[in-house]
Amino acid sequence: MVRAEGVTKRFGTVEVLKGVDLTVRPGEVACLLGPSGSGKSTFLRCINHLERIDGGQLWVDGDLVGYRRQGDKLHELKAREVAVRRRDIGMVFQRFNLFPHLTALGNVIEAPVRVLGTPRDKAREQAMRLLDRVGLTERAGNYPSQLSGGQQQRVAIARALAMRPKLMLFDEPTSALDPELVGEVLDVMKGLAADGMTMVVVTHEMGFAREVADQVAFLDAGVVVEAGTPAEVLGSPRHDRTRAFLDKVL
Ligand code: ADP
Ligand code: MG
Repeated sequence: MVRAEGVTKRFGTVEVLKGVDLTVRPGEVACLLGPSGSGKSTFLRCINHLERIDGGQLWVDGDLVGYRRQGDKLHELKAREVAVRRRDIGMVFQRFNLFPHLTALGNVIEAPVRVLGTPRDKAREQAMRLLDRVGLTERAGNYPSQLSGGQQQRVAIARALAMRPKLMLFDEPTSALDPELVGEVLDVMKGLAADGMTMVVVTHEMGFAREVADQVAFLDAGVVVEAGTPAEVLGSPRHDRTRAFLDKVL
């Protein structure tokens, strides 16, 4: 579902990604760990077509990001084609970014109605199923300002799922939450993982990584220093940099 080979990304003269390698198979949950500034968000943004890579190769769902193959030629994607590819990728951020003027239900039906042209009634039915899945049936009519952070984040997850993505990206989805609200969001994510969703999750929640991840990758200074099963990377890290990071967060 995702394959990165030597992906590099510069901002001005600063090389932020210095050759990232990562493979995520369909149905797999990959957790990305690493210190602040190591390039985790930038890498997720590359996967989601929000940044253009400078070197290496990046495939998502079998397609080279940014290009369309025609015969043996590659053509750069037009904005419209990028938009179509991005429909298959859901992204959830640290800040929930809900539309403040729409209810929970309104937030979830917005994209299917506007982007996919789903009839409103049908979109509403699907949205109610998704709100049920994230435990918010009772909150469908509430505005974001009337919801806790954990509830808002669960609406954000339902909103992303409404586009029926093949891949879900999470960028520190619980970092902005009060500690007592973290569990309800992680539980929803565990449910998604159990249902077979392919997920790339940037997180500092080691319990989640240990329990749910098929693969843990440790990113430092723009490279994946090591990747493996949670037992390998968290239990017996091979690199000093991984060990030093884990000593700080565990
Ligand atoms: P992480 O998510 O691991 O904390 P980021 O990917 O956000 O790291 O950032 C990696 C580095 O890239 C940081 O030094 C950050 O300041 C820099 N950076 C990120 N986005 C931009 C940008 N749009 N312009 C310039 N520098 C950026
Ligand atoms: Mg980040």
